[in-house]
Amino acid sequence: MKKFLCILLATLMAFTMVACAAKTESNPVEAAGKFTAGTYEGVGKGNNGDIVVDVVLTDSEISEIIVKEHAETAGLADAPLKDIPAAIIAGQTLAVDTITGATNASNGVIAAVTAALEAAGVDVSTLQIKSETAAAQIAIEDAEYDVVVIGAGGAGLSAAIKAKLSGAENVVIIEKMPFAGGNTLLSYAELACAGNWLQDEKGIEDSNEQFAKEMWEGGGMLARKEMVDTVVNNALDAALWLRDYVGVEYQDYLVHEGGHSVPRAVEPIELGAGMITPLVAKAEELGVQIMYNTKAEELIQNEEGRVIGVQVSAGESTATFTADKGVVLAAGGFGANIEMREQYNKRWPTLDESVQTTNSPAIVGDGILMAERIGAQLEGMEHIQLYPFNNPMTGVFYGIEAPSWSGEGLIYVNIDGNRFVNEMGMRDVRAEAILAQEGAVYAIYNQEVADRLNMEEKFADEYAKCLDGGVYFKADTLEEVAEYFEINAENLVNTMDNYNTYMTEGVDLEFGRTTAMVPMNEGPWFILKGIVSVHHTMGGVMIDTDAHVLDTEGNIIPSLYAAGEVTGSVHGNNRVGTCAISDITVFGRIAGENVVTGK
Ligand code: ADP
Repeated sequence: MKKFLCILLATLMAFTMVACAAKTESNPVEAAGKFTAGTYEGVGKGNNGDIVVDVVLTDSEISEIIVKEHAETAGLADAPLKDIPAAIIAGQTLAVDTITGATNASNGVIAAVTAALEAAGVDVSTLQIKSETAAAQIAIEDAEYDVVVIGAGGAGLSAAIKAKLSGAENVVIIEKMPFAGGNTLLSYAELACAGNWLQDEKGIEDSNEQFAKEMWEGGGMLARKEMVDTVVNNALDAALWLRDYVGVEYQDYLVHEGGHSVPRAVEPIELGAGMITPLVAKAEELGVQIMYNTKAEELIQNEEGRVIGVQVSAGESTATFTADKGVVLAAGGFGANIEMREQYNKRWPTLDESVQTTNSPAIVGDGILMAERIGAQLEGMEHIQLYPFNNPMTGVFYGIEAPSWSGEGLIYVNIDGNRFVNEMGMRDVRAEAILAQEGAVYAIYNQEVADRLNMEEKFADEYAKCLDGGVYFKADTLEEVAEYFEINAENLVNTMDNYNTYMTEGVDLEFGRTTAMVPMNEGPWFILKGIVSVHHTMGGVMIDTDAHVLDTEGNIIPSLYAAGEVTGSVHGNNRVGTCAISDITVFGRIAGENVVTGK
């Protein structure tokens, strides 16, 4: 029997389980008569809207916090919605740490509880003392497993499930954040696969050969072709596995990103959370242990070079997790590591802190660096993808830019009111063109497009937020939207006339657009301001088609497997949109199976 590790109390996650747990002696407010007992409501602003809580007070303590309403993103907000209330109760303090990667939701919960306490007549300044109980402390111990997976994103979860299904008894996922998901959770989790059920339904002809050609050419023909073929040939299987075994629910439409000649990506109804939530549930159902707030520090090799475990840390404590069968590295890329971006970037004018990222703050190349330290070969590190059009307030892509990948289309214009690129083209080409413009660029679509995609209902909150932030505007005429952003209105009207002629005649004489040939003749008009952001790092550790990590001599590093954005062999110099989820699921499953079978 393996020795399981023991977590001593009081990480933020542990607070979840002890939400109503005892306070310590150092409790700053423990005194009868301190509060007027009762239930009080409070409202705070989260990331997506109001968070409403009920706070239950006895005469001496905050005894319960119930989150009644919120519009936060499933998965991403699970930790703040559970753990912040638990930490407040455990420490009897409002001075609790926010959760990295979910700061707005954390602050929203704290604000809501503060408001409720104020409504109860509490002097909240007395609750601003940090309690020792609230300071997260974890103690981990050495433990033995069959398989250790590093990272609970899409690749790691797929690998862990597959390892379990392949016969491994004890599988653990080490996740440094207090919640699962990584960049996969933040993405739309669209998965490109040829010959899928929606293509069949809609009579769309496609083939693996065509898909592979487009994915490989989209990556500048720099990926290893056998890696592309492995993704493409297994992508449909991966999608069916997610749908039928894991329980991911998909929309009934297809997504059509630049670089694909036909619509071929399926999209979870709940986007990233729609993939991560069922993956976590399935992993837990199978008995995979997920250790949150636990960071992989180093890979451990024996004298023969076999990877036999991982050095991990949690808070102040460290431990060794041994892995009888092997380790799967699935710690993601390095999009949020500014130093590494600057070290490896060759293509873009700069990737310093002035360029925002769509990535989770956790995605700082830990896995790549760890593998490099034991002699893994890195590949394609200079290939860093910029997502072309993002919200300048957050650096993250807009939901309200959906026409750009939905087959409806939109146009990009610069401050002079002129188009400058095929808006349906490859991400790298669009990003390059956007960077070549003076100042910001703008995306424009009309009411008909918005209506066909049910945009105003689907994205009501985002439109409202963006309007408030001055990055979005809607008006009846092109002149009005131009005036709002000080764009040359006369040019804009001409640009739209020309665009409509091209779309109607089916030939874009200026920029060669061939997909989403949708004229936009009438207002009202929607306009968004955009900036480029670091999105995906194509480089990483070199793997083969069995997901073995290779060393600098091209030899397999025994018992070390890798999958997902941590790897560098699949996307060449440009990842074609919607191919990441195909990659991480396919290679996650391969790695999870092979680490057990030893293939
Ligand atoms: P992929 O798409 O390849 O699955 P993601 O970005 O979705 O990549 O997931 C990577 C996960 O790895 C994230 O949840 C991230 O927090 C986690 N992670 C990154 N570095 C470490 C580390 N050193 N230890 C444990 N987990 C890590």
